[in-house]
Parts: sequence; structure tokens; C-alpha cells
Amino acid sequence: MNTPLIIDGKAVAAAVLEECRVEAAALTEKGITPGLAVVVVGDDPASKVYVGSKARTCADLGFHSVKIELPTETTQEELLEVVRKLNADPAVHGILVQSPPPKHINEEEIIRAIDPRKDVDGFHPENVAKLALEDPTGFVPCTPAGCMKLLEVSGIDTNGAEAVVIGRSMIVGKPMALLLVSKNSNATVTIAHSRSKDLPGICRRADILIAAVGRPDMVKADWVKPGAVVIDVGINRVEDSSKKSGYRLTGDVAYDEVAPKCAAITPVPGGVGPMTIAMLMKNTLQAARQISNSKL
Ligand code: NAD
Repeated sequence: MNTPLIIDGKAVAAAVLEECRVEAAALTEKGITPGLAVVVVGDDPASKVYVGSKARTCADLGFHSVKIELPTETTQEELLEVVRKLNADPAVHGILVQSPPPKHINEEEIIRAIDPRKDVDGFHPENVAKLALEDPTGFVPCTPAGCMKLLEVSGIDTNGAEAVVIGRSMIVGKPMALLLVSKNSNATVTIAHSRSKDLPGICRRADILIAAVGRPDMVKADWVKPGAVVIDVGINRVEDSSKKSGYRLTGDVAYDEVAPKCAAITPVPGGVGPMTIAMLMKNTLQAARQISNSKL
């Protein structure tokens, strides 16, 4: 048995947000108030919660915040027009269209319509390329950027480490793998996914294991090398009649059995989750800085 470091994402996110507040004040003094626009289409309750908390965080940090709520029946062309207007709005430095949109919306086309200089989610192909090229003017997707920050502040050395990322999405898995293999990090990276053979065996090689799948408690204790660092990105709702809401949140890692084997682990909730919004604010500041500098 071992007492792992429980990585406190809430505390790290609060520190990042505090840095953002200070930088926002300094930029505002120079006449540039960082601005973030969040667009949500339809009435998915989880999306509404995310968008609400992004807008509240903006207000709290002194950012200019625009929240656009559109009805489910909004057409592709109407949404594209909203994006074009935000692209042209000088008070807006960051634009985010909350995922998932309703089924009739072509999300890929919407992402490509966002000015890459304002794409603070880092999903536009230009920013995906910049991540692969290790060009620091690009925007790094917020959740993997948050995972890297957690590793860094926890003093975890990624140099030469065996890292395994489970999941290959463009939002988490792939950018996470690119960040780990970059020259800033120097890990040896394996990306595992739904077709990987012997997933437990692959995971057991990991000094650093990142789970980004969306399957509650999938990673078991015997998948984890003793002394590994485990970062759990998964956010899963599982029924729990003892909760007022009727559900509880759990990660992709069977926390209770895995934690005692680890050197460090992120809990769910309170691990990676709070980092995503903090890195979004950091990206918005980067956009405000870059856009205003290019205008000078
Ligand atoms: P996704 O559904 O786009 O991708 C899931 C990936 O997991 C896929 O690449 C798939 O190949 C892989 N996968 C599925 N089943 C598997 C299996 N049995 N074995 C191995 N691999 C398997 O999901 P996503 O957007 O990358 O999100 C992953 C999880 O992270 C979800 O739980 C999501 O809610 C959570 N998430 C959390 C945050 C945060 O802020 N903490 C942000 C984004 C996503």
C-alpha cells in the first residue's frame, strides 16, 4: 500500500485563474479588455451549465464576455453568420461554439469558419497543425493543456517516461499525445484506442497513464504499474440513488483500487475538470495579446 499524491485540480486551476486575473487587469490598463464569446445551440442541459460557468468565470476575471444562446432549429447558415460577426468583432478575442451542437449542424464546417486567431478551443486545422509543429502561437486544446499543467506543477518528470494515452479524439487523446511527445516534454508515447489489442498490457507499461475514454471505472488496478502517475480525464454520470440528483460523477479509472498503487493520481471530480476552463481563459488572454500586438 502506498499513499499517492492526490493532484488537486481545483487548487491548480484557482492559481491559473488568479494569474489570468492579474494579466487581464494589465491588458485592460493598456486599453485591451480580453473578450470571449461562447455560443450554444439548443438546450442540452450540460452544455448550458458549461456555457454559464465560462461566462461567469469571464465576468469574475474582468473579461468582456458575450453569451449567445440560439434555438435548436438554428440553421447551419445562421450559425455561420453568428461566427462571421464574432470574427469581425474587435471586442472579441476568443470564440467558442459549445459541443455537441444539434445533429443537423455540421460542426466541422463551423470550426473551420472560426478565425484561427480567435479559436481558443484549438480545434481549427491551423491550430492542430501548429500543435504538431510545436508553434507556440497556436492554441492548445484546453483539456490536454490542463493535464500538462497538472503534471508540471506536481513535479512529474516526463522526460524519457513511457506515457500511454487511452483515447484518440481530437479534443483530448491526440493533442495530449502530441504534447507529451513534444520537445518540451520528451515522453515516449503510445496512443491506445477502442481497437487496441491487450489494452491492460499496454497500460501496464506506462509511467504516465492518461485515460480519456468515457467509460466509468474502466482502468483497473492490475492495468497500472506500481508507482505510475494516473491522469483521469473521463467524466461519466452513473446512477446513484443516494444522491439528490440521482447520479454521481466518476472517471475512467477505478479510483479506489488504483490510487493505492500510484505515485500520483487525479480524482474525479476535482482533478482535470476544473483545469479545462482555466486553460480556456489562458488561451483567451493569449488571443487578446496576439491580436492586439499584430495591430500595433
Ligand atoms: P470521444 O468519445 O471523442 O473519444 C473516446 C476515445 O476512447 C475514442 O478515441 C475511442 O477510440 C476510445 N475508446 C472507446 N472505447 C474504448 C475502449 N473500450 N478501449 C479503449 N479505448 C476506447 O471522447 P472525448 O471527447 O475524448 O472524451 C473522453 C472522456 O473525457 C469523456 O468521459 C469526456 O466526458 C471526458 N472529457 C473531460 C473533459 C474535462 O474537462 N475533464 C474534457 C473533455 C472530455
